[in-house]
Amino acid sequence: MALVPMKEILDAAERGNYGVPALNINEMLQLQAYLNAAFERKSPVILQASMGSRKFTGWLSKEAENPDLGAAVTIGMIKTFIEQYRAVYGYDVPVSITLDHGPDFKQCKGAIDNGFPSVMIDASLDYGRKDDKGKHPARTLDENIKVTREVVEYAHKRGVSVEGELGTLGGVEDETQAASVHLTDPDEVERFVKETGVDALAVAIGTSHGAYKFPGAAKLALDLVPKIHAKAGTCRLVMHGSSSVPANLVALVDRYPVVCLDNGVLGVTGFFNPEAKKPETRRYTTTNPWDMARLGSDLAFFSCLKKSSGVPMEAIREAIKGGVRKINVDTDGRLGTTGAIRKFMAEKPDEFDQRKYFEAARKALYEMAVEKMVGFGSAGKV
Ligand SMILES: [Zn+2]
Repeated sequence: MALVPMKEILDAAERGNYGVPALNINEMLQLQAYLNAAFERKSPVILQASMGSRKFTGWLSKEAENPDLGAAVTIGMIKTFIEQYRAVYGYDVPVSITLDHGPDFKQCKGAIDNGFPSVMIDASLDYGRKDDKGKHPARTLDENIKVTREVVEYAHKRGVSVEGELGTLGGVEDETQAASVHLTDPDEVERFVKETGVDALAVAIGTSHGAYKFPGAAKLALDLVPKIHAKAGTCRLVMHGSSSVPANLVALVDRYPVVCLDNGVLGVTGFFNPEAKKPETRRYTTTNPWDMARLGSDLAFFSCLKKSSGVPMEAIREAIKGGVRKINVDTDGRLGTTGAIRKFMAEKPDEFDQRKYFEAARKALYEMAVEKMVGFGSAGKV
């Protein structure tokens, strides 16, 4: 079997007391980078495709995007790569893919029917509704159990693993925007796991999606992890929003801003002070010495990204010790890709063969994946 249900990978991680990176994919570069890292480092790997990813890969020029088409294309692409790599490397590594934040039964079913060996149903939020701020309201525990159980019943009959979510995370991830954040209550875990039959559970311990996780240093309720672990039985724990947003990748993006030069007017877009909430464009006439002096002082506090921070590797390792087995990483791959492409374009302005800068991006993704596999302890476990 080319793809394995996530449960197999997570049960092995539980026995071996290590964590497995769950890496989001949207296109071929990420897939090549992550599968190469897994084969090269003999690490199990979990790939993830969100609803946004399924729509992106299910793009049709003449019709609305088709998430089921996206799911089928993604599965086909992964299976082809795995078969070829297996032949080239001469051994196999366990690879799974899961739907990331399945919003309802219909979308989970669509993923399963198109070959996903694992899905996540995020019934912690009601994706069918939005509050006046455009965010999804939280569901009650009873509602969450009902929706999750329906997906589990359909999935388990087909040998597919299911991840649920208890408590809500903050931040923004594709179409995931929680109205408020509730940490997972260990007392609810036992009931949720028993009544839903989920194989994995996303826990809310203070992480959030995206690059802007914490205003200052990371604040996580790591003491909750062993308490939840003790109540979860054979259900494996998952940490979402666990990119480290490493300073070197943020610095890489910031070092290569994209500027616009139009008829002797230099346009610079970004954040001109650490408190700025939105990027702003400032224009400087290059023949005007006052404008150019102003550019110099404006750049003193300039950055491309809003002040950002993530979950440090030490905190993740602490969580793994406490029983977390699947660690979701998306933002770090995005930062690496963007930084590598910007650097490449800044250094080779006359290069317009897209393979060249895609190669730079793929290398950054590969290195990021290797770092996670080594850091989480999954490298060498195959
Ligand atoms: Zn998530």
